[in-house]
Amino acid sequence: MIKLSDRLAGLEESVTLAITAKARAMKAEGRDVIGFGAGEPDFDTPENIKEAGIKAIRDGHTKYTAVGGINELKDAIIGKFNKENSLAYTRDEILVSCGGKHSIFNLFQAILNPGDEVIIPAPYWVSYPVMVALGGGTPKVVHTKESDGFRMSPEAFRAAINPRTKAVVINSPSNPTGAAYTEKELVKIAEIALENGLLIISDEIYERLSYDGFKVTSIASLSEEAKKSTVVLNGVSKTYSMTGWRIGYAAGPKNIIKAMTNIQSQSTSNPTSISQWAAVEAISGPQTEIDKMVAEFVKRRDSIVAGLNAIDGISCIKPQGAFYVFPNVSKLFGRKYKGSPIKGSVDLATYLIDEAGIAVVPGEPFGDDNFIRLSYATSMDHIVKGVKRIGEAVKELK
Ligand SMILES: *Cc1c(COP(=O)(O)O)cnc(C)c1O
Repeated sequence: MIKLSDRLAGLEESVTLAITAKARAMKAEGRDVIGFGAGEPDFDTPENIKEAGIKAIRDGHTKYTAVGGINELKDAIIGKFNKENSLAYTRDEILVSCGGKHSIFNLFQAILNPGDEVIIPAPYWVSYPVMVALGGGTPKVVHTKESDGFRMSPEAFRAAINPRTKAVVINSPSNPTGAAYTEKELVKIAEIALENGLLIISDEIYERLSYDGFKVTSIASLSEEAKKSTVVLNGVSKTYSMTGWRIGYAAGPKNIIKAMTNIQSQSTSNPTSISQWAAVEAISGPQTEIDKMVAEFVKRRDSIVAGLNAIDGISCIKPQGAFYVFPNVSKLFGRKYKGSPIKGSVDLATYLIDEAGIAVVPGEPFGDDNFIRLSYATSMDHIVKGVKRIGEAVKELK
């Protein structure tokens, strides 16, 4: 047996994927499974974007491109930042990667040295701590409170900083909680980060998915100083239902973007040429499909939040954005099914899939075991039926 890299210590298969695999296997057996696990919109990629991809193939855009993306796409991204965020970037401050995830991976590879700490508010997207560790750094998890709307308080942020702290990750709106920071809260976070010379890593992938008029602010847009200390991460996956196309991007200081581009040049080279042309259309073409998607998501969010709160033992705060709810299920812990107690979120998720055919994601891998994550990127019909079945299953716990 070949001994594997020491860097992989602690890297395990994700629980999320294990439950998804189980749900898929049960469906294949013909069982009626309702999935709340999806990490992607359930809408199709809009027609104009698909056409742009097809046209790119016909036009012969099928060769290597510049590593960091074609100028047409960089210019579309620059235009987006100008128009939507009042942020002015130049082409050498933009990197296009094979998905937003790839940009984030490149970033941690580019900035971290052994001993460097990265502050990650929990609940967090499962990939952040792993990517920090793979970059040779140390994740420093800061737990947030449900009563604070899952947002990191300035006090908790300050308390986590030490001389080894290199960066802080802000994901607003958040996966898995849907929580988003107000501009006022971001001002405070930026102030503390700047005082301490930290890099702000702002994952804005859910930027366009916010509800009830909540205005998502890019922390980079707060001041010229904030911009200089921030790398903004975004992409087309969530906004335009383009998860399979694999286009994400980063914007930030030239030296960091250059280092990230070099890493990309020695690993994947450019993101798919065809997808890049489709992304040009997504970002600079008509934006009307987003409004329709948001209108649909808000209805589903309201339905799922109300339904979950009506179940004895479950409470769920109403998130500002993204397409997830993160209900508190800790009151169910200790209740038993056929004599065996539900000890945590993984037990509960396992119970729901086995006994009720409901796939949810346990909170444990997101850094908080008292919760489960449900995605409402599924039909209203599924939401109504699924929540009813969760309620019935919970009643069986004594
Ligand atoms: C989905 C997601 C991403 C990136 O997705 P890509 O498909 O790689 O662009 C980044 N951050 C968070 C929090 C996400 O949920």
